[in-house]
This record gives sequence, structure tokens and C-alpha cells, in this order.
Amino acid sequence: MKKYAIGVDLGGTKILAGLVNTETGEVLASVKKKTQNQGSENIMEKIIEVVEKTVIEAQIAFSEISSIGIGAAGQVDRVKKVLISAPNLNCFNLDIGQALENQFKVPVFLGNDVEVATIGEIIFGNGIGFKNIVCIFVGTGVGSGIVCDGKIYGGRTGTAGEIGHIIVDSGGRPCGCGENGCLEAYASRTAIEKKITGAIKKGHSSVISEFISDNGSTIKSKHIKRALEFNDEVVFNAITEAAEYLSSGIASVINFYNPELIILGGGLIEAVDFFYDITIKKAHAKALAIPSAGVKITRTGLKDFSGIIGAAFLEKYYARAIA
Ligand SMILES: [Zn+2]
Repeated sequence: MKKYAIGVDLGGTKILAGLVNTETGEVLASVKKKTQNQGSENIMEKIIEVVEKTVIEAQIAFSEISSIGIGAAGQVDRVKKVLISAPNLNCFNLDIGQALENQFKVPVFLGNDVEVATIGEIIFGNGIGFKNIVCIFVGTGVGSGIVCDGKIYGGRTGTAGEIGHIIVDSGGRPCGCGENGCLEAYASRTAIEKKITGAIKKGHSSVISEFISDNGSTIKSKHIKRALEFNDEVVFNAITEAAEYLSSGIASVINFYNPELIILGGGLIEAVDFFYDITIKKAHAKALAIPSAGVKITRTGLKDFSGIIGAAFLEKYYARAIA
């Protein structure tokens, strides 16, 4: 098998592509573009564009590339290579496999974004050497990948790991899934943003208003980090609340699954030490003593690249799984 592959991380807010050496996990080049609720046609055009740009930037001939792997934020049909439903991207029944194979004439592999990032972490990241792992990613939502005996565990319908929809407050805040009180309605970056903007609208002052008015954009991880450096009360309260709920969710996972390792990822986890530190401290304290003592909690080893490296490795991962 050729040693280079392209990995694409198709998330709710951005698309990131990378040309990866699948023997070493090294990323030779990467290209990023924003995505926002754009619909199937636009998304497909953007995927093709980032793949082309990545290949040019890496200065590798396309004939050297073995496959293209994609991790998409939504429900996928891994066999037909169809993105069934990605509400954040406004994409439904998008035949990514067919479109990319026609365009680039190489095999295409598709997985869910969290599952693919988890593969990245177990092959080249902080999951190396562990067999029973849960990788939890905090982003637009909260998702997790489960590793059981060294392999991704998908469950009966391939949807296992939906930690974001663990109910942490019965009858609580509405969640995008239609239920109430789900973890991601409290601990996702979307929920944290809502909490901050809600407090500002109610008249609480926060330095974050100044940071975001600079460029008129949404609240980013770096804004939250900076606001905490200013001891901003609004942001401090929002992060503390999110950590409280996230740690409850993680404690439940520790009690239920008794994993040896939990890997936490996502922009906010990577950028904001305070959020990460109190989350793991509280998770350890809330979980039962024996499983809590037996679990290591860490951040991702590959940071932003878990998804593209895992996606590029999909062809080899599936080949291994079948062998
Ligand atoms: Zn939900």
C-alpha cells in the first residue's frame, strides 16, 4: 500500500484536510476552510477544493496517494460511503464516496468524525498502548468514541458513544435531539456560548464583549481563555457550570465502562486549562473510588489533527479490521 493518504475532517464549523504519511502519522500539509449550514452542493465543492489545495501544498503527485478518508460530523453509511444526515451542515443523503471517487479516481472511506478522531488517537496519539478507552470531544456538540479491546465499538446500529445525549438534568434545557436535559445542552461550546451571550443580554458586563466586537465574530476558545485571564465573572460562571455537567457525564462513563483511559479533545479543552483541570478533578471525585483510581484522564496527543490523521488511516484501519 502507498504510504500517503488524504484525511478530511468535516466538522460543523470547519473543514480540515491533510496529507498524511500513514506509516508515521506525519501531516505533510493541511488546509482549512469554514463551513456553515451550506447544503450538500456547497459542501461537496469545498471538500474537493481543500483536497486539491492540500495535494498542491504537500508537493506530492496524486499518483502517490492511496486513498481519501473522511470523518463527517453526522450519521454515515460506512459501506455505501454516504453522509446520511448532518444537520449542522444542512447535508442529507450526500454521496461523498461517489463524488470523490469520480473526481480523484482513488478509493474513498467514510466514518463519523468522532470515531475517526478516536482512530487517530489510538494509532498515533495518546491512546497508544491502551485497549479500553473513551475519547470525548467537546465542540458544537459533545461526542465520544469507544475503544473496546483495541477496536472501535459502534454498537448495534453504529451509533454507540452518544455521550452528549446522556441526560444529566431530567426535564432540563431542551436539546437539539428533541429531548430535555442532555449533557450537550450544558457542556458543549455552543451551550457555553449561549450561557455567556445570555448573561450579557441580561445586563451582566463581560470583557468578552470587547474581544468579539473587535471582529464582529462568534466567541472562540481564545476569547474564553483571555476573559478568564481577566477574571471575568460571566465567563468564569459559564465555564464552571459546563465543567460541573461535563464531569458528571465523564463520571458516569467511568462508572459504567470502567475504562483504563479517557482522552478529552476539542478546541475549548485544548485551549482553556481551567476548563480541563476542573473537569478532570471533579470527574475523578464524582466517580466510584475503584474505577476512578483505575482510569487515566488526558488530552488528545494529536490536537486538531486527530481527525485528519484518523481519516487518512481509515483504509488501513478497515483492512486490519477485516484481516
Ligand atoms: Zn440530546
